[in-house]
Amino acid sequence: MIKLNEDILKIEDQNEFFTASKYVREYKANNPDKKVISLGIGDVSKPIAKPVIDAMHNAVDELASMKTFKGYGPSHGYDFLKDAILKNEYSKYSFSRDEIYISNGTKTDSCSILELFDKEMKICAVSPIYPIYKNGAACLNRKIEFLKATEENDFLVDIPKEHYDLIYLCSPNNPIGIAYSFDYLNKWVDYALNNNAIILFDNAYYAFIQSNDVPKSIYEIKNAKKVSIEFRSFSKSNSYTGVRCSYFVIPNEIYSDINEVWKKRTINRFNGADYIAQKGAEASYLPESQKEIKENIHDYMNHVKILKAFFNEHGFKVFGGDDSPFLWVKLRDGESSWEIFHKYLEKLNVVVTPGIIFGKDGDNYIRISGLASEETIIEAMERLRGYYEK
Ligand code: PLP
Repeated sequence: MIKLNEDILKIEDQNEFFTASKYVREYKANNPDKKVISLGIGDVSKPIAKPVIDAMHNAVDELASMKTFKGYGPSHGYDFLKDAILKNEYSKYSFSRDEIYISNGTKTDSCSILELFDKEMKICAVSPIYPIYKNGAACLNRKIEFLKATEENDFLVDIPKEHYDLIYLCSPNNPIGIAYSFDYLNKWVDYALNNNAIILFDNAYYAFIQSNDVPKSIYEIKNAKKVSIEFRSFSKSNSYTGVRCSYFVIPNEIYSDINEVWKKRTINRFNGADYIAQKGAEASYLPESQKEIKENIHDYMNHVKILKAFFNEHGFKVFGGDDSPFLWVKLRDGESSWEIFHKYLEKLNVVVTPGIIFGKDGDNYIRISGLASEETIIEAMERLRGYYEK
């Protein structure tokens, strides 16, 4: 008899996510005269930089002639993009092309990396959590144990006493919006060295880091090359959420055959990221692109600053937002995240993300995003002020 994967059927927070989207859809359908705006999205609101667009146009033109046509590319990415990443992102660490992989999104990569490891590996992650690690692991019949990040531990979980083989860390963090300092990551690298463990470091939001005591890459931590796989994405910095391109590093120092094994896996499971997306990603390192990208990040961080000041002024405890586009706002008077979600949607026509989507430990919080457009931020602020200051 056919049996479906029970672990997928049991995924809960996906339901919460769909429920939130359904409420918004239904509210809009029943109230077509209302202008619903969102501070909930993790998507971007800026277009792709002009030189990146130009590079993608050129790549499309190449496909129009068999002289320059590109068919299947390398499963682990074109050398031109690997070289651009090695030069612009990792020149300090002397990685080789063989240690870097181009892919189509950190969502995919942060889960599929589990295929590199034995099913018995003991995995932990921090809760509240970007749900994809947990749900992606479930799809692969793997289970994750959780370490609770709470206000009491400043959302920095204690380094565990027990043994784990694989540790998911996300910095800058989604949903909490904080980023891990050199000191804190040093402790995790020490743990990994002492436990023969590997840190799966989701660094998708590294471009938003502003603080000097926060490393932009885990490899800034001494010996991290021996114990860390780092994931990065062009999604948020490049406005590539719809184009899809990401990369990750598996250092040879982790384990002697690790890259041979992963290449074997990748050749059999993936036909490579889109050529056009990779050409655009390469062009994102041009100085003119970098200028636009930095301006975009600056604007998003400004939005976050405005939102943070507002919630602080109105008596909410607010976490994050210094090195990430997200704020983690603690609700007052025992309100649940669903209650405030409905209140904001129905009274203000503003969508926020209920913290429960990131697990039960998030139920007393909402996630607010600064990735919305300036126009949306201004309008949301007017509505929030109208509500709290009347
Ligand atoms: N990792 C985190 C922590 C995220 O918040 C997101 C997207 O929201 C991703 C990864 C997904 O990135 P990508 O668009 O590269 O799949």
